[in-house]
Amino acid sequence: MKTSVNSFKSTCCYCGVGCGVVVHKENDGRLTLEGDVTHPSNKGMLCSKGMNLHYTVMDQSDRLLFPQMRLSRSMPMQRTSWDEALERTAAVFKALIKKFGPDSVAFYVSGQCLTEEYYLVNKLIKGFIGSNNIDTNSRLCMSSAVVGYKLSLGEDSVPVCYDDMEEADVFYVTGANPAWCHPVLWRRIEAHKAANPDVKIICADPRRTDTARSADLHLAINPGTDIVLNNAIGRLLIEKNYIDPEFIDNHTNGFESFQVKVFERTVEESAALCGIDANDIELAADWIGKSKGFLSLWTMGLNQSVIGVNKNLSLINLHLITGRIGKPGNGPFSLTGQPNAMGGRETGGLANILPAHREVTNPAHREEMEAFWNSPVKIADKPGLTATEMFDALADGRLKAIWIINTNPLVSMPDLNLTEKALNNARFVVVQDVSNRADTVAFADVVLPAAAWLEKEGTMTNAERRITHLPKVLDAPGEALPDAEIIWRFAEKMGFGNEFNYNNPSEVYDEYVKVTAGTNIDVSGVSYDLLRERRSVQWPFWGRKDEGGRDEGGKEELESAEFYDSTGTKRLFADRRFFTGDKRARIFGVADENTSEPVDSDFPLVLTTGRIRDQWHTMTKTGRVAKLNQHIPQPFLQINPKDARLRNIADGQLVTVLGRRGEVRVKAQVTEDVKPGLCFLPMHWGKILGSSLNRANNLTNTLADPKSKEPDFKFSAVEVAPY
Ligand code: SF4
Repeated sequence: MKTSVNSFKSTCCYCGVGCGVVVHKENDGRLTLEGDVTHPSNKGMLCSKGMNLHYTVMDQSDRLLFPQMRLSRSMPMQRTSWDEALERTAAVFKALIKKFGPDSVAFYVSGQCLTEEYYLVNKLIKGFIGSNNIDTNSRLCMSSAVVGYKLSLGEDSVPVCYDDMEEADVFYVTGANPAWCHPVLWRRIEAHKAANPDVKIICADPRRTDTARSADLHLAINPGTDIVLNNAIGRLLIEKNYIDPEFIDNHTNGFESFQVKVFERTVEESAALCGIDANDIELAADWIGKSKGFLSLWTMGLNQSVIGVNKNLSLINLHLITGRIGKPGNGPFSLTGQPNAMGGRETGGLANILPAHREVTNPAHREEMEAFWNSPVKIADKPGLTATEMFDALADGRLKAIWIINTNPLVSMPDLNLTEKALNNARFVVVQDVSNRADTVAFADVVLPAAAWLEKEGTMTNAERRITHLPKVLDAPGEALPDAEIIWRFAEKMGFGNEFNYNNPSEVYDEYVKVTAGTNIDVSGVSYDLLRERRSVQWPFWGRKDEGGRDEGGKEELESAEFYDSTGTKRLFADRRFFTGDKRARIFGVADENTSEPVDSDFPLVLTTGRIRDQWHTMTKTGRVAKLNQHIPQPFLQINPKDARLRNIADGQLVTVLGRRGEVRVKAQVTEDVKPGLCFLPMHWGKILGSSLNRANNLTNTLADPKSKEPDFKFSAVEVAPY
């Protein structure tokens, strides 16, 4: 790794693996980039997306450069000044709030936002406007895991770290394709398996993905049967005496109801429902039961479901009944989709929470934050609108204005025809973004140009609770500003200048960490200086020893090495004390029935959506990199040969995918990689040459898990016909 005064350590801004990168400013003005060998998350490795990150920064052809606005939708956008754009936005917000109340406005933000940005938007709307209408696109990917963790462990707390990968001997990957979506983590698992051939990988997925291909056992379950499978594994773990009675008796509640639930079906019945062999379920249970280190990894296949929370609980149950948590190489590990989904939640970036995982429904938590912020209003006592609820409310007129920051809902939301109707119906739309490729720009009344990655300073938290500092390396082009500065300038225009009187993001961060003091996610001893010095810190972090703190989890108080991961951070739950009131984890007997949109004779196939290896979300960044576009240049529909034959569809033929809410037209890829009855569309593409027929989310629905409010992207009823 080369270093010079022109080298800067940062963090990849794509997935939640959060790989460290070193960016070099070359003498000729070009940027080059390499993996950071000193970063514990990736140890120098980068995937194809990360290796090409600098091209997205150097190509500024699509950048939004100046504030723009228009006085009506029929008028063209015109360049304006920052003052004028923000004053008009403040005037509209004030007028709407006065006439319709604070819940008439909302912010929809992104897991790409830095922690400081998340914190400021939350402070503004919850503590000063008096509404909880802020939600994030992380609602679309992680909220079922959040609720699952809170219910079972008492806190939204990922209990493992990446170094557990090298300690585990059984990996249960379910509803995830890390080989494509979290490649650097997957490379670590592959290298570990290559060095230790007895390591077993189990993959549960209706699709034969690259992850499934490299697994020792692929459980190609029917869509929506994840809980049936996990309950059957749970039953076998009990029957075969693989459980940990001491752990269950002393550290958990709920085992009895779990036992009753999992014995409601025989393993053979479960296997039939899942569409797999009962012997394979038994093999999975044997490997898990006999393992020394049992890690489960999951993402959207469990989370993006109308029963997403229960799917999470059914998986976490397997760790709790076997006591496989809080020990090296053991635990449930939700893989985060976005680079700062975790940091967003830490600052309260969901409609139902406040900073440091406080709850808006908890009066004491509201009072703490009102006092801390010196709020001129009471924090609302009910959760605000979640992501899908915001667009429903815009469509039916309950919500009047929305401010969209660094996310592209016209590609990523379910039921895009509804999303489009919602934005058309909105009285006022503000779009704050880096790129004019964001589809929402066309619907904006005000467009605010934001600084991109490397053009602003701040922090992010990756999937293993690891916080890193991202320095400003370049000036933003044109008049683009850092997102945090846009928010504090707007707050001043709203009349809240005294409480938003910041000069730099470091001041915002220093304020945020104070509210974590004494909480489960305490980072009150962390500062930019500390992050620069140590490269990264995992939470909780209870202050530097040389400043009177306990430093890295009170290492001096606990002697067993098992209480620490290999980076010296306290291992959550190593002491068998959970974040619940009685310190016991909760095991749940969860129902296994799927309540997704039903298939019928008109729409007999199940559509699932997902990502491809070299694209990121809605392609506003990766879609500009020629090398990345070469991997899979066009959207496609995977369909099983049996289903294709029935419909006279040949491989490569143009087909129409029809659903209850819209249609898609793409080329068919006839493949055994999807089961009969299932088809798959990638989620990345928006409009191509003005046509919206490439958008997978024309077909998905807004059904959501009742607790997490996460939409059911993985199960929509469709039919396919030759075009
Ligand atoms: Fe970036 Fe994720 Fe790839 Fe790492 S694995 S380089 S964080 S996209």
